[in-house]
Amino acid sequence: MRPLQMVDTKTQYQKIKSAVDAAVIAVMESSQFIGGKVVNDFAAQLAAYNGSKHVIPCANGTDALQIAMMALGLKAGDEVITPSFTYIATVEVAALLGIKPIFVEVDPKTFCLDPAMIEAAITPKTKAIVPVHLYGHAADMEAIMSIAAKHQLFVIEDNAQGIGNDMVFSDGTVKKTGSIGHIGCTSFYPSKNLGAFGDGGAIFTDDDQLASQLTMIASHGQSKRYYHDVVGCNSRLDAMQAAILSIKLKHLDEYISARRKAADYYDAGFANHPKIQIPFRASNNGHVFHQYTLILKDADRNALSDFLATHQIPSMIYYPVPAHKQKMFDAFGGSAYQLPVTDWLTERVISLPIHTELDTEQQDFIISKVLEFLQS
Ligand SMILES: *Cc1c(COP(=O)(O)O)cnc(C)c1O
Repeated sequence: MRPLQMVDTKTQYQKIKSAVDAAVIAVMESSQFIGGKVVNDFAAQLAAYNGSKHVIPCANGTDALQIAMMALGLKAGDEVITPSFTYIATVEVAALLGIKPIFVEVDPKTFCLDPAMIEAAITPKTKAIVPVHLYGHAADMEAIMSIAAKHQLFVIEDNAQGIGNDMVFSDGTVKKTGSIGHIGCTSFYPSKNLGAFGDGGAIFTDDDQLASQLTMIASHGQSKRYYHDVVGCNSRLDAMQAAILSIKLKHLDEYISARRKAADYYDAGFANHPKIQIPFRASNNGHVFHQYTLILKDADRNALSDFLATHQIPSMIYYPVPAHKQKMFDAFGGSAYQLPVTDWLTERVISLPIHTELDTEQQDFIISKVLEFLQS
């Protein structure tokens, strides 16, 4: 059996090595490292894939979120509604801009922002809702978009874990996550479903005016070279990453299928176990399984994690401390929040290895060890 890893980007690379190597060498030979055709071509390919009019590449997913908030004119004193059960980047960028994150409870099934809890958190200062498609399951975008429309709020989708997912709306329309809100953000961190060989990120929008604002902010606020209209930042996707991502984008759907197949296999292995809740999949939602995350009922997930480690099986807790309990948010009143669902999940989730290269021999071993632990 091949050694187990949370993600196996090395084996994935071996399968596309000749194309990737040639593309990287071509960038080196062109000496066009920043911007240029390779980056523009990738942006166009990603826009077409995602059904978004514009894609603005940037340096990473965290920057994408920050630039999105800046482009929408959010400023100190404003409020954004976000889940607390997320990776810190989502909420950190708000705080960095002096925007107050308002933490709202998640749905215990989807792990995503609970639409039923949003309206109670809206105040006259609320400017945007930032749903996160956590683990690759989409937030309920239909409900969120209608709440946003009713209260005239912007929606920024944190699609770092959701890229490639399809949402079916009640009128039958199908849209990719990241193309539904006013702005979508994603990350090409190497372990993400569309991972670069370094850092990278992108911003999606259908709005022409927002697109030019986003482009300008990501490039020192310049409208044309050396003319700086607004305060911006320096956030670029480099040509080498773009060249690699162009190749990997062609495989993204196949990568997602491989993840779903692995998830199906785990589901079957854990089916009907009284102590395991397998990942929920809403019928209108294509879960892309960035993570395969179980909820352990009446069992100690930390002890399971330790047990698995003794058998060389990695596992991860995403995330051991929710945002509202991070020291970072003390100043924003984080500790005053009562988020029982978030707290409950935080204590019970455990993510198992899932990636495009996982085979059934590996999964059989992982499943058998999880079941063995739960028997004792
Ligand atoms: C990875 C991730 C980010 C940040 O992306 P980086 O490229 O690492 O900056 C933001 N939000 C979520 C939910 C993520 O998983």
